[in-house]
Amino acid sequence: MGGIDGSTGSDPQGQTPINEAARLMTVCNSCRYCEGLCAVFPAIELRRVFKEGDLNYLANLCHSCGACYVDCQFSPPHPFNVNVPRVLGQVRAQSYAAYAWPRALSGLFARNGLAISLIAALSVAAFIAGFVAWHEPAALFGMHTGPGAFYRLMPHNAMVALFGAAFLYAVVALLMGMRAFWRDIGEPAATLAEPASLWQAIKDAAGLRYLDGGGDGCFNADDKPADGRRIYHHLTFYGFLLCFASTSAATAYHYLLGLPAPYAWHALPVVLGTLGGVGIVIGPIGLLAAKARRDPDMADAESLGMDVAFLAMLLLTGLTGLALLLLRETAAMGLLLALHLGVVLALFLTLPYGKFVHGLYRFLALLRYARESRALARGGGAAERYRSAEILT
Ligand code: SF4
Ligand code: SF4
Repeated sequence: MGGIDGSTGSDPQGQTPINEAARLMTVCNSCRYCEGLCAVFPAIELRRVFKEGDLNYLANLCHSCGACYVDCQFSPPHPFNVNVPRVLGQVRAQSYAAYAWPRALSGLFARNGLAISLIAALSVAAFIAGFVAWHEPAALFGMHTGPGAFYRLMPHNAMVALFGAAFLYAVVALLMGMRAFWRDIGEPAATLAEPASLWQAIKDAAGLRYLDGGGDGCFNADDKPADGRRIYHHLTFYGFLLCFASTSAATAYHYLLGLPAPYAWHALPVVLGTLGGVGIVIGPIGLLAAKARRDPDMADAESLGMDVAFLAMLLLTGLTGLALLLLRETAAMGLLLALHLGVVLALFLTLPYGKFVHGLYRFLALLRYARESRALARGGGAAERYRSAEILT
């Protein structure tokens, strides 16, 4: 690649995302104007050549904040055509499909994820409701209160078996994807046992450190930075964790304390679930609104369906969960519970094939970045920069 544009003489418009990303990284490595914006640019500077694994690592380190596009003197209409957020977004979306397990399902990333998720949710809900209505209509349409009321619709053991199997499947598929990412970027297993790097990555991920456009917030079509995307990401992320904590607490109540659901408003599973439910309603709504305001020039249009599907499923999970909480002592409980279970099961089954994976790969990318940064600091600075990277990669 010669010249500052890294051009090989071919038209960049016709390149694959990986080739285009390699070209852009070479341009950025010559320019270095954006090195203070996020982790991507310092990580670029550790490299002189960009292999596919390096590009997948850099793509998953990027938060698509848009700051480097707005700041870039080489962005369109300049002939260098530098558009880092969009190209890294394309590489990132391709990497999700490449790491999917089993590989036969990787095509789900490219198809209409929202339609697939909704059909799955409604099918499961219809099956549960239809099965109960066939055998015992009073269980579906009647009012049930007190301990064990939910299990009139579906026995507790059947619920545990169905959702436990779906959850385990999702965990295995996600772990296999993480393993594929780790291998692709060439990171040694020893990094997973480095407490200082792990702690740094946890802090960076928990605080969404690099989702701030270099300090001003993410950029939209009006070129004005705003911090809303970061706030809504936080609400979604911590809302999801609180919902998971609520389910774990309910499991402990059931098995350790012998207390079957539903629980009182002030019980720990309900408090955690209510807070989490509010988070996964407000967060996805805000992120969907932020998506609509994004400059289409810097977005990867092809991954829009996948992004929207995950946010919509989280939103539906929160809405059906909160509706169930509000109406659980009415005759609507049976149908609402069937709907909520259908949505949650569809969410579990589609987690490994949708935008959820970005959080896991980004955490692993941050872990590698933390390890590289520490090694570079130990190496003593610029003179050691490339040598450190060669040792590390
Ligand atoms: S995005 Fe543009 S301004 Fe920023 S480092 Fe790359 S070439 Fe330079
Ligand atoms: S879009 Fe934001 S996070 Fe991605 S490379 Fe540019 S400045 Fe960094």
